[in-house]
Amino acid sequence: MGEMRVHDKQFEPYISAEKIADRIKEIAGKLNKDYTGRKPLFIAILNGSFMFAADLFKELAIDAEICFIKLASYKGTKSTGHVITAIGLDMDLFGRDVVIVEDIVDTGKTLSEFLPQLHHQQPASLKIVALLHKPEATVFPITIDYLGFSIPNKFVVGYGLDYDGLGRNIPEIFKLIE
Ligand code: 5GP
Repeated sequence: MGEMRVHDKQFEPYISAEKIADRIKEIAGKLNKDYTGRKPLFIAILNGSFMFAADLFKELAIDAEICFIKLASYKGTKSTGHVITAIGLDMDLFGRDVVIVEDIVDTGKTLSEFLPQLHHQQPASLKIVALLHKPEATVFPITIDYLGFSIPNKFVVGYGLDYDGLGRNIPEIFKLIE
């Protein structure tokens, strides 16, 4: 694919569908090994991770469950400040091996606020798989246990990721031309 326009911006090909598929197979191979006999619960964070979660889940050969949640942020009281809540998290995490599936970790703010809420439910383990990570953008350091690709601090679209609602259907990852 050549360059692509989404809304008012121009993007160039960055990570091909084939590269994504190969990397997902590698990650799934590790997960298959690490979670044999443990029946992990994958929690995919919508919207951006839907495509990655689906492709990753297809490559799992172990018994595993998956659920999809949305994170909503709102302003709490003065003492609680900014609060993130999970919509659709109807599973009991107590004693479960939980794996969070995220599209991209940028500043780390989303996960650093959300992970303590999950720990509160006392899962047996809590790991993170992310397709993309922007190390240069880190403000809240997050340990990513299974990572697809480290990328520079550039805006990307495609493969589930949007620019103002569009671009999620592009089967590969494109990078903003600046
Ligand atoms: P964080 O809380 O780590 O700063 O941001 C994570 C969220 O920001 C991601 O789940 C994603 O929705 C959004 N995000 C961060 N970087 C990008 C990007 O380059 N492209 C798109 N489409 N979304 C991004």
